[in-house]
Amino acid sequence: MLSFTEAIHDGWGQVFRVDRLVHYEKTEHQELVVFDNASFGRVLALDGIVQLTERDHHVYHEMIAHVPILAHGAVREVLVIGGGDGGVLREALRHEDVRVTLVEIDARVIETARTHLPFVSAGAFDHPLAEIVVGDGLAYVRDTDRRYDVIVVDSTDPVGPAAALFGEGFYRDCARCLVPGGVLVTQAGVPFFQGDQVAAAQALLGSLFEHATLYLASVPTYTGGPIALGFASNADLVPGDVRTIASRARATGLATRYWAPDVHVGAFALPPEVRRLVGAG
Ligand code: SAM
Repeated sequence: MLSFTEAIHDGWGQVFRVDRLVHYEKTEHQELVVFDNASFGRVLALDGIVQLTERDHHVYHEMIAHVPILAHGAVREVLVIGGGDGGVLREALRHEDVRVTLVEIDARVIETARTHLPFVSAGAFDHPLAEIVVGDGLAYVRDTDRRYDVIVVDSTDPVGPAAALFGEGFYRDCARCLVPGGVLVTQAGVPFFQGDQVAAAQALLGSLFEHATLYLASVPTYTGGPIALGFASNADLVPGDVRTIASRARATGLATRYWAPDVHVGAFALPPEVRRLVGAG
């Protein structure tokens, strides 16, 4: 019996039975695996780390896309760094008149997602308001003159090409690429296992933005408790008012499975041990 073991954390991991190996390759950037599992459906892993599963990807994609867009309230331009599976792209494009630029370093992730994980993007790669750039997100934000209302960093963990996406230079360039009052959201990590990583990134964001905090989402296959998403802006958009957020969502006709106005606001409620990671005692 074939199995897939994710061993991202020291001395502990999660094991999936591989009911069918759908795709395996070593791309120019990473090892890419797609397989089917009885409990989670289709699974995408990069360099041995689970990126998404059919059963729970909606939690992450809804929370990382709708929270900044609805907290801001008047978003037109979104930049996604990473996100080659198309999930954030799809959720962001559900907001009327929002244009999305997606910068993914590995073309093979996009091509494989289109072929083997079509339920994630649901056609979003071909949306007229989507622009797909294959390239390094670090170089993109360093070199572009374009400005965005929301930047979503949907990266892999800080190893290989994603390591620089957790660094000061990258965050500084993101801050420059935001219009005043814009929002930067990041895949920060699971506080239980990756507290030091989360705290280091938050310290950088706190030095660059007037407001920097975290919010939480529970994605079963991101193991060790809720994942933290970094939220940074020069505007004070947290905690947000449930009724305002709800009316913005109603105006866009947004139907979601995990995101909801009160979940949005409640996600910013941090247990003290997580609050400490944002330097807020
Ligand atoms: N939600 C996911 C997670 O953390 O489990 C992330 C999914 S998404 C597939 C992450 C993507 O970031 C990968 O496709 C990877 O190729 C891309 N990536 C990593 N480093 C990058 C960089 N420097 N520039 C652009 N994309 C990058």
